[in-house]
Amino acid sequence: MRVGRIFGIDIYIDPSWILIFVVVAWMLSSDAGPLRSAGLSTPERWLFGSLTALLFFASVLAHELAHSLVARMRGLNVSRITLFIFGGISQLTGDFKSATGEGWVAFVGPLCSAVLAALFYVASQALGAHSALGLSTGYLWQANAALAVFNLLPAYPLDGGKVFHSLIWQATGDRRRATQIASAVGQSIAIVMIALGIFLAFTWSFINGLWLAFIGWFLFQAGRAEAYQSSLGAALGGQTASTVATMPPPPFRPDTTASDATQALLRSGQRAAAVVSDGRLLGIVTLSDLARVHVNAPGVQVSSLMTPVDKIKSVAPDSDALQALNLLAQTGFHQLPVVDQAGGITGFVTREGVLQRLALSN
Ligand SMILES: [Zn+2]
Repeated sequence: MRVGRIFGIDIYIDPSWILIFVVVAWMLSSDAGPLRSAGLSTPERWLFGSLTALLFFASVLAHELAHSLVARMRGLNVSRITLFIFGGISQLTGDFKSATGEGWVAFVGPLCSAVLAALFYVASQALGAHSALGLSTGYLWQANAALAVFNLLPAYPLDGGKVFHSLIWQATGDRRRATQIASAVGQSIAIVMIALGIFLAFTWSFINGLWLAFIGWFLFQAGRAEAYQSSLGAALGGQTASTVATMPPPPFRPDTTASDATQALLRSGQRAAAVVSDGRLLGIVTLSDLARVHVNAPGVQVSSLMTPVDKIKSVAPDSDALQALNLLAQTGFHQLPVVDQAGGITGFVTREGVLQRLALSN
């Protein structure tokens, strides 16, 4: 859900964020929360609690904006910032040209949180521990300090892990090796967090322990995804989209009926085919497009079900195979057509096709 735009960057919130916002607001407003000694009535406490929660998430957003703005200065594209249950993510596209670029982009996030922590600390000292604002800023400096410290853990892909990654990259000159080392260290830290979380859940606080284990699990998955990307990159090194693409089935004419097209696709064992007229590509029709038609609806033609050519993302035959896979993941489709200069489809890049190709070459 898009909620706004700052410095030309779209800000989105994930539905899971609403949950964490309510939990934080409730935690701050409850009888046992940090505002309990301010002498507020219950509605006032809820108002202050919610405002404090909003300021906390504004701090998270500031942390992400710091990443995004420095990334933009370093020549990367920032597609959006998303706030979700574990904090925020700056979605960056493009590649770091140097280790120092990566290091700085990662470092400014925790730096921003540390600066905010210092500002809120000064404010809380000035306002005193008995006013609602003093207690609220007191909570905010601690929360921002925790954010800075947690994100500086050298657990890739946390910010600290990325700084660590950039340092190894700088030292060895080998980016892929740096990713392997940083993900291995990150995954080890994640496992320690999960184990510690489970231990604390039974010996100290069930909720806090479980939360730590949950974050550890999330980190572990994220680290594994990064390591996978990196080893996939190594395995696909230098290959092009056309070498990993599967042969397309024979194309359909626009007036091919949906039932004929379904049968032809099922026979070929493929999920999609081009729709072509006079050698010109009109669009792509997939099994799921065809499944939208009622089996008994006669005479529905593929041209009315296909995704038209101007809505299709495609790659050139000589483009990088790993980039093609990443584009495929971004589009959310099952296949990415490989289109040559003449506008003809020479193949489809699919996840299964690439895995098969890798299995054959090993
Ligand atoms: Zn960060």
